[in-house]
Amino acid sequence: LTSELQALSHLPAETTDGYLIPLYLNTGLVSENRPLGIEESAGVGLYRTELPFIVRDSFPSEAAQMANYRHVLELFAPRPVTIRTLDIGGDKPLPYFPMQEDNPFLGWRGIRITLDHPEIFLTQVRALLRAAIGLDNLQLLLPMVSTVGEVDEALMLIRRVHDELLEEGYQVRMPPVGVMIEVPAAVYQAEALARRVDFLSVGTNDLTQYLLAVDRNNPHVAKLYNEYHPAVLRALLQTLTGARLHGKEVSVCGEMAGDPLATFLLLGMGVHSLSMGAGSLPRIKKVIRSISRARAREVLRVALQCEDANSVRRLLLNALEGVG
Ligand code: PEP
Ligand code: MG
Repeated sequence: LTSELQALSHLPAETTDGYLIPLYLNTGLVSENRPLGIEESAGVGLYRTELPFIVRDSFPSEAAQMANYRHVLELFAPRPVTIRTLDIGGDKPLPYFPMQEDNPFLGWRGIRITLDHPEIFLTQVRALLRAAIGLDNLQLLLPMVSTVGEVDEALMLIRRVHDELLEEGYQVRMPPVGVMIEVPAAVYQAEALARRVDFLSVGTNDLTQYLLAVDRNNPHVAKLYNEYHPAVLRALLQTLTGARLHGKEVSVCGEMAGDPLATFLLLGMGVHSLSMGAGSLPRIKKVIRSISRARAREVLRVALQCEDANSVRRLLLNALEGVG
Protein backbone atom coordinates (compact mmCIF):
# COMPACT_ATOMS: atom_id res chain seq x y z
CA LEU A 1 0.00 0.00 0.00
CA THR A 2 2.76 2.44 0.95
CA SER A 3 4.57 2.04 -2.37
CA GLU A 4 1.26 2.37 -4.17
CA LEU A 5 0.69 5.68 -2.39
CA GLN A 6 4.25 6.81 -3.11
CA ALA A 7 3.71 6.15 -6.78
CA LEU A 8 0.94 8.75 -6.69
CA SER A 9 3.19 11.48 -5.37
CA HIS A 10 3.93 13.06 -8.74
CA LEU A 11 0.45 12.65 -10.20
CA PRO A 12 -2.09 15.47 -9.91
CA ALA A 13 -4.99 15.35 -7.43
CA GLU A 14 -7.59 15.15 -10.18
CA THR A 15 -11.01 13.50 -10.13
CA THR A 16 -11.92 10.92 -12.77
CA ASP A 17 -14.08 13.57 -14.46
CA GLY A 18 -11.20 16.01 -14.69
CA TYR A 19 -11.50 18.41 -11.73
CA LEU A 20 -8.15 19.41 -10.25
CA ILE A 21 -8.20 19.87 -6.46
CA PRO A 22 -4.79 21.22 -5.38
CA LEU A 23 -3.60 19.72 -2.11
CA TYR A 24 -1.68 22.04 0.17
CA LEU A 25 0.31 21.49 3.31
CA ASN A 26 -0.43 22.60 6.88
CA THR A 27 2.85 23.43 8.58
CA GLY A 28 4.52 25.66 11.17
CA LEU A 29 3.28 23.86 14.29
CA VAL A 30 6.60 22.21 14.98
CA SER A 31 10.02 23.56 14.25
CA GLU A 32 11.33 21.81 11.15
CA ASN A 33 13.90 22.95 8.69
CA ARG A 34 12.46 20.94 5.83
CA PRO A 35 8.87 19.85 6.52
CA LEU A 36 7.65 16.60 4.98
CA GLY A 37 5.51 16.89 1.89
CA ILE A 38 7.41 19.68 0.11
CA GLU A 39 7.53 17.78 -3.19
CA GLU A 40 4.08 16.22 -2.86
CA SER A 41 2.12 19.41 -2.16
CA ALA A 42 0.94 22.30 -4.30
CA GLY A 43 2.30 24.72 -1.70
CA VAL A 44 1.33 25.69 1.84
CA GLY A 45 -2.35 26.23 2.61
CA LEU A 46 -1.87 27.04 6.29
CA TYR A 47 1.36 28.17 7.89
CA ARG A 48 0.72 28.65 11.61
CA THR A 49 2.97 31.45 12.90
CA GLU A 50 2.49 30.95 16.65
CA LEU A 51 5.58 28.81 17.32
CA PRO A 52 8.31 31.51 17.28
CA PHE A 53 6.09 33.58 19.59
CA ILE A 54 5.54 30.69 22.01
CA VAL A 55 9.14 29.46 22.34
CA ARG A 56 10.64 32.90 23.10
CA ASP A 57 10.32 34.97 26.27
CA SER A 58 9.30 38.12 24.40
CA PHE A 59 7.80 39.05 21.02
CA PRO A 60 10.17 38.14 18.14
CA SER A 61 11.62 41.13 16.28
CA GLU A 62 10.75 42.04 12.70
CA ALA A 63 14.14 40.68 11.58
CA ALA A 64 13.71 37.36 13.41
CA GLN A 65 10.21 36.88 11.99
CA MET A 66 11.37 37.84 8.52
CA ALA A 67 14.08 35.16 8.51
CA ASN A 68 11.46 32.59 9.49
CA TYR A 69 8.97 33.55 6.80
CA ARG A 70 11.66 33.91 4.12
CA HIS A 71 12.75 30.36 4.78
CA VAL A 72 9.33 28.81 4.20
CA LEU A 73 8.55 31.09 1.22
CA GLU A 74 11.83 30.04 -0.42
CA LEU A 75 11.29 26.34 0.29
CA PHE A 76 8.04 26.30 -1.66
CA ALA A 77 8.58 29.03 -4.28
CA PRO A 78 7.11 29.53 -6.84
CA ARG A 79 4.19 27.70 -5.25
CA PRO A 80 1.90 29.78 -3.01
CA VAL A 81 2.48 29.87 0.75
CA THR A 82 -0.48 31.00 2.84
CA ILE A 83 0.76 32.42 6.11
CA ARG A 84 -1.74 33.04 8.88
CA THR A 85 -1.26 36.09 11.09
CA LEU A 86 -0.78 35.43 14.77
CA ASP A 87 -3.51 33.25 16.32
CA ILE A 88 -2.59 33.29 20.01
CA GLY A 89 -5.15 33.16 22.81
CA GLY A 90 -7.69 30.40 23.34
CA ASP A 91 -5.60 27.26 23.84
CA LYS A 92 -2.35 29.06 22.85
CA PRO A 93 -1.49 31.69 25.49
CA LEU A 94 1.92 33.44 25.55
CA PRO A 95 3.91 33.25 28.82
CA TYR A 96 5.01 36.91 28.51
CA PHE A 97 1.59 38.27 27.52
CA PRO A 98 -0.74 37.69 30.50
CA MET A 99 -4.40 36.95 29.85
CA GLN A 100 -6.76 35.87 32.61
CA GLU A 101 -10.09 34.85 31.17
CA ASP A 102 -12.98 32.64 32.31
CA ASN A 103 -13.72 31.61 28.71
CA PRO A 104 -10.52 31.89 26.66
CA PHE A 105 -12.14 30.31 23.58
CA LEU A 106 -14.76 33.07 23.64
CA GLY A 107 -12.24 35.69 24.54
CA TRP A 108 -9.18 37.46 23.37
CA ARG A 109 -7.99 35.36 20.44
CA GLY A 110 -6.39 35.71 17.02
CA ILE A 111 -7.24 38.88 15.15
CA ARG A 112 -8.95 40.33 18.22
CA ILE A 113 -5.61 40.56 20.01
CA THR A 114 -3.61 41.77 17.04
CA LEU A 115 -6.10 44.54 16.22
CA ASP A 116 -6.11 45.67 19.86
CA HIS A 117 -2.31 45.72 19.66
CA PRO A 118 -1.65 46.95 16.13
CA GLU A 119 2.09 47.14 16.88
CA ILE A 120 2.11 43.31 16.97
CA PHE A 121 0.17 43.06 13.71
CA LEU A 122 2.14 45.81 11.91
CA THR A 123 5.49 44.24 12.84
CA GLN A 124 4.35 40.83 11.65
CA VAL A 125 2.97 42.16 8.36
CA ARG A 126 6.15 44.19 7.73
CA ALA A 127 8.20 41.02 8.25
CA LEU A 128 5.90 39.06 5.94
CA LEU A 129 5.86 41.57 3.08
CA ARG A 130 9.61 42.08 3.26
CA ALA A 131 10.18 38.31 3.33
CA ALA A 132 8.23 37.93 0.09
CA ILE A 133 10.24 40.46 -1.93
CA GLY A 134 11.31 38.89 -5.21
CA LEU A 135 9.39 35.66 -4.52
CA ASP A 136 5.82 36.97 -4.57
CA ASN A 137 4.31 33.65 -3.47
CA LEU A 138 2.97 34.99 -0.16
CA GLN A 139 -0.73 34.92 0.73
CA LEU A 140 -2.04 36.25 4.05
CA LEU A 141 -4.74 34.60 6.12
CA LEU A 142 -6.64 36.28 8.99
CA PRO A 143 -7.73 34.05 11.93
CA MET A 144 -10.80 34.20 14.21
CA VAL A 145 -12.70 36.80 12.19
CA SER A 146 -16.27 37.39 13.40
CA THR A 147 -17.08 40.82 11.90
CA VAL A 148 -16.47 42.59 8.59
CA GLY A 149 -15.05 45.52 10.56
CA GLU A 150 -12.11 43.38 11.65
CA VAL A 151 -11.35 42.59 8.02
CA ASP A 152 -11.63 46.23 6.94
CA GLU A 153 -9.29 47.26 9.73
CA ALA A 154 -6.78 44.50 8.98
CA LEU A 155 -6.81 45.34 5.25
CA MET A 156 -6.24 49.00 6.08
CA LEU A 157 -3.24 48.10 8.24
CA ILE A 158 -1.82 45.76 5.58
CA ARG A 159 -2.13 48.51 2.94
CA ARG A 160 -0.50 50.95 5.30
CA VAL A 161 2.47 48.64 5.81
CA HIS A 162 2.69 48.09 2.06
CA ASP A 163 2.73 51.84 1.32
CA GLU A 164 5.23 52.60 4.06
CA LEU A 165 7.61 49.88 2.86
CA LEU A 166 7.37 51.21 -0.71
CA GLU A 167 8.25 54.68 0.58
CA GLU A 168 11.22 53.18 2.40
CA GLY A 169 12.37 51.80 -0.95
CA TYR A 170 11.40 48.12 -0.55
CA GLN A 171 9.97 46.50 -3.68
CA VAL A 172 7.01 44.94 -1.86
CA ARG A 173 3.76 43.77 -3.41
CA MET A 174 0.29 43.67 -1.94
CA PRO A 175 -0.34 39.92 -1.32
CA PRO A 176 -3.69 38.17 -1.78
CA VAL A 177 -5.53 38.20 1.55
CA GLY A 178 -7.96 35.57 2.84
CA VAL A 179 -10.21 35.12 5.84
CA MET A 180 -10.51 32.02 8.01
CA ILE A 181 -14.10 30.87 8.37
CA GLU A 182 -14.04 29.34 11.83
CA VAL A 183 -16.71 31.22 13.79
CA PRO A 184 -20.43 30.67 13.01
CA ALA A 185 -20.92 34.43 12.57
CA ALA A 186 -18.42 34.35 9.70
CA VAL A 187 -20.40 31.59 7.98
CA TYR A 188 -23.52 33.77 7.99
CA GLN A 189 -21.46 36.63 6.57
CA ALA A 190 -19.46 34.61 4.07
CA GLU A 191 -20.78 36.76 1.23
CA ALA A 192 -19.81 40.08 2.84
CA LEU A 193 -16.41 38.66 3.78
CA ALA A 194 -15.81 37.19 0.32
CA ARG A 195 -16.56 40.58 -1.23
CA ARG A 196 -13.68 42.10 0.78
CA VAL A 197 -10.93 39.52 0.33
CA ASP A 198 -9.38 37.22 -2.28
CA PHE A 199 -10.24 33.82 -0.80
CA LEU A 200 -11.82 32.04 2.16
CA SER A 201 -10.33 29.16 4.12
CA VAL A 202 -12.52 27.09 6.43
CA GLY A 203 -11.01 26.14 9.79
CA THR A 204 -13.22 23.18 10.57
CA ASN A 205 -11.52 22.55 13.94
CA ASP A 206 -12.75 25.77 15.50
CA LEU A 207 -15.88 25.95 13.37
CA THR A 208 -17.02 22.55 14.66
CA GLN A 209 -16.18 23.55 18.23
CA TYR A 210 -18.17 26.78 18.01
CA LEU A 211 -21.12 25.37 16.05
CA LEU A 212 -21.61 22.43 18.41
CA ALA A 213 -20.58 24.26 21.61
CA VAL A 214 -18.04 21.48 22.23
CA ASP A 215 -14.53 22.31 23.47
CA ARG A 216 -12.21 20.67 20.94
CA ASN A 217 -9.79 19.66 23.74
CA ASN A 218 -12.18 18.46 26.47
CA PRO A 219 -12.35 14.63 26.79
CA HIS A 220 -15.71 14.80 28.61
CA VAL A 221 -17.43 16.05 25.49
CA ALA A 222 -15.14 14.49 22.88
CA LYS A 223 -17.91 12.14 21.71
CA LEU A 224 -20.02 15.17 20.78
CA TYR A 225 -17.26 16.68 18.65
CA ASN A 226 -18.11 15.51 15.16
CA GLU A 227 -17.40 17.07 11.78
CA TYR A 228 -20.14 15.05 10.10
CA HIS A 229 -22.79 16.84 12.17
CA PRO A 230 -25.43 18.14 9.72
CA ALA A 231 -24.89 21.66 11.09
CA VAL A 232 -21.22 21.54 10.05
CA LEU A 233 -22.14 20.37 6.56
CA ARG A 234 -24.67 23.18 6.15
CA ALA A 235 -22.17 25.74 7.42
CA LEU A 236 -19.70 24.60 4.77
CA LEU A 237 -22.35 24.79 2.06
CA GLN A 238 -23.34 28.29 3.08
CA THR A 239 -19.71 29.41 3.04
CA LEU A 240 -19.32 28.12 -0.51
CA THR A 241 -22.52 29.79 -1.62
CA GLY A 242 -21.36 33.14 -0.22
CA ALA A 243 -17.95 32.89 -1.85
CA ARG A 244 -19.40 31.85 -5.20
CA LEU A 245 -21.45 35.04 -5.39
CA HIS A 246 -18.16 36.93 -5.67
CA GLY A 247 -16.25 34.31 -7.64
CA LYS A 248 -13.85 33.68 -4.73
CA GLU A 249 -12.23 30.33 -4.00
CA VAL A 250 -12.76 28.34 -0.81
CA SER A 251 -10.18 26.09 0.77
CA VAL A 252 -10.58 23.85 3.81
CA CYS A 253 -7.59 23.78 6.18
CA GLY A 254 -9.02 22.12 9.31
CA GLU A 255 -8.53 18.42 10.11
CA MET A 256 -11.58 17.61 8.00
CA ALA A 257 -9.53 18.29 4.84
CA GLY A 258 -7.31 15.29 5.68
CA ASP A 259 -10.18 12.89 6.34
CA PRO A 260 -10.76 10.57 3.35
CA LEU A 261 -14.44 10.12 4.29
CA ALA A 262 -15.00 13.86 4.19
CA THR A 263 -13.44 14.11 0.72
CA PHE A 264 -16.77 13.11 -0.84
CA LEU A 265 -18.56 15.91 0.98
CA LEU A 266 -15.99 18.61 0.27
CA LEU A 267 -15.65 17.73 -3.42
CA GLY A 268 -19.41 17.48 -3.73
CA MET A 269 -19.79 20.98 -2.34
CA GLY A 270 -17.26 22.37 -4.80
CA VAL A 271 -14.38 23.19 -2.42
CA HIS A 272 -11.49 24.41 -4.61
CA SER A 273 -8.52 23.13 -2.61
CA LEU A 274 -7.63 21.28 0.59
CA SER A 275 -4.83 21.83 3.08
CA MET A 276 -3.64 19.12 5.47
CA GLY A 277 -0.77 17.58 7.39
CA ALA A 278 1.85 15.84 5.23
CA GLY A 279 0.71 12.42 6.46
CA SER A 280 -2.72 12.79 4.90
CA LEU A 281 -1.60 13.91 1.42
CA PRO A 282 -1.14 10.50 -0.27
CA ARG A 283 -4.41 9.01 0.95
CA ILE A 284 -6.51 12.05 0.06
CA LYS A 285 -4.91 12.17 -3.37
CA LYS A 286 -5.75 8.51 -3.87
CA VAL A 287 -9.41 9.09 -2.99
CA ILE A 288 -9.68 12.13 -5.28
CA ARG A 289 -8.13 10.21 -8.17
CA SER A 290 -10.61 7.36 -7.62
CA ILE A 291 -13.88 9.29 -7.67
CA SER A 292 -15.73 11.71 -9.92
CA ARG A 293 -17.14 14.99 -8.78
CA ALA A 294 -20.50 13.80 -10.07
CA ARG A 295 -20.31 10.85 -7.66
CA ALA A 296 -19.25 13.14 -4.80
CA ARG A 297 -22.25 15.36 -5.50
CA GLU A 298 -24.53 12.35 -5.36
CA VAL A 299 -23.08 11.27 -2.00
CA LEU A 300 -23.42 14.83 -0.69
CA ARG A 301 -27.06 15.00 -1.76
CA VAL A 302 -27.85 11.91 0.31
CA ALA A 303 -25.67 13.10 3.21
CA LEU A 304 -27.69 16.31 3.40
CA GLN A 305 -30.80 14.24 4.05
CA CYS A 306 -29.22 12.61 7.12
CA GLU A 307 -30.33 13.98 10.46
CA ASP A 308 -27.31 13.03 12.54
CA ALA A 309 -23.56 12.58 12.26
CA ASN A 310 -23.65 8.78 12.60
CA SER A 311 -25.87 8.37 9.56
CA VAL A 312 -23.57 10.64 7.57
CA ARG A 313 -20.55 8.62 8.65
CA ARG A 314 -22.17 5.30 7.72
CA LEU A 315 -23.05 6.66 4.31
CA LEU A 316 -19.48 7.88 3.75
CA LEU A 317 -17.99 4.56 4.87
CA ASN A 318 -20.13 2.79 2.30
CA ALA A 319 -19.16 5.27 -0.39
CA LEU A 320 -15.45 4.86 0.40
CA GLU A 321 -15.69 1.06 0.35
CA GLY A 322 -17.17 1.40 -3.12
CA VAL A 323 -13.92 2.94 -4.41
CA GLY A 324 -11.68 0.28 -2.82
C1 PEP B 1 -9.04 25.40 12.53
O1 PEP B 1 -9.55 26.00 13.49
O2 PEP B 1 -9.64 24.53 11.86
C2 PEP B 1 -7.66 25.70 12.11
C3 PEP B 1 -7.17 25.23 10.98
O3 PEP B 1 -6.89 26.48 12.94
P1 PEP B 1 -6.25 25.97 14.32
O4 PEP B 1 -6.41 24.47 14.35
O5 PEP B 1 -4.84 26.44 14.28
O6 PEP B 1 -7.09 26.69 15.32
MG1 MG C 1 -8.63 27.78 14.32
